[in-house]
Amino acid sequence: MTFLKVDRVKKVYENQPRAAVQGVELSVEQGEIVALVGESGSGKSTLLNIIAGLLNPDEGQVFFKGEKVKGPVDKLVPGHEEIKVVFQHYDLMPFHTVEDNIRFIIRGFDDEFQDEKLSQLTEVCALEGFLHKKPGELSGGQQQRVAIAKALASEPELLLMDEPFSSVDSQLKAHLESAVFEYIKAFEMTCVFVTHDHKDALSLSERIVILKDGKKHDEGTPQNLYYKPFDAYVASFFGAVNIFSGKKLNELLGVKQYHLGTDYLIRGEFITISDKGLKSIVKQRLFMGHYEQLLLESNQQRFQVFTTPNQYQVGDQLFVEFELEKLISLS
Ligand code: ADP
Repeated sequence: MTFLKVDRVKKVYENQPRAAVQGVELSVEQGEIVALVGESGSGKSTLLNIIAGLLNPDEGQVFFKGEKVKGPVDKLVPGHEEIKVVFQHYDLMPFHTVEDNIRFIIRGFDDEFQDEKLSQLTEVCALEGFLHKKPGELSGGQQQRVAIAKALASEPELLLMDEPFSSVDSQLKAHLESAVFEYIKAFEMTCVFVTHDHKDALSLSERIVILKDGKKHDEGTPQNLYYKPFDAYVASFFGAVNIFSGKKLNELLGVKQYHLGTDYLIRGEFITISDKGLKSIVKQRLFMGHYEQLLLESNQQRFQVFTTPNQYQVGDQLFVEFELEKLISLS
């Protein structure tokens, strides 16, 4: 039995010309961590709400551990006991402190368990210093961390998160992500999370599902989608990509082997700066910390490569070689 099965769901909002989600099928195994990505408006939040039982699909259904997830139409209090959602709006109890917000979730347990849980979640979600404050006194990022802590507190079998780290300060984000996902794994939760951050999708998930115009466009492991995207839409989610027409590639490489009507993709890390190869000019340098992204131009074709910082200046001339076996045809 599939742990979570989304069976051809469709949702059209009132007065909207097209479906927000259409014909989406998805199977998630117990313990799996799945990232949902897609451009804004591609249906990610709608799908998450349908999975959570907070929105009725117009067609299709969702099965959780073999049973149909009831939506608000069939259930007085929408939602499912074993499914928790971290929303983009944080859904905290405004008149209670952070500590009480969390204790409320585990109120049925004895004090010792509650204290232990509170201390674990304070550490994981970096809540130290504001447990006594009320949500209104916190920044958006702090409220977001409390919302994550609340969702984790109940150890749901299925955790759904909509852009869970979008408001968190960048200094804290790395700690938080790694601690939260370690916790999810430790408590054997299954997790589906929405993100627009390609680094999060690649590094935190075991499978990525890409939505486009409300439909499932592609899915696969992070490695598969990164190295073998089947089109430019997929490729473009995962960092800078270089796309060349077959004609241009033949011209640049002095060959005749690439199809004229086809585009080819190659990631910047597979174009290396060398003492021979294609003569190029540095048009722009982007300092990224431990590496630098260079925008190069050759024969009016621009492309990106990576290098260690502070090696080149804008206007420098250099040579590059392509790892041709890494070229992907986008036919
Ligand atoms: P995403 O999460 O990928 O940004 P959404 O699921 O929020 O996408 O939205 C998908 C489409 O449905 C968009 O065109 C959006 O404008 C529309 N939509 C979302 N929520 C509503 C709503 N409550 N009423 C009407 N249209 C909506």
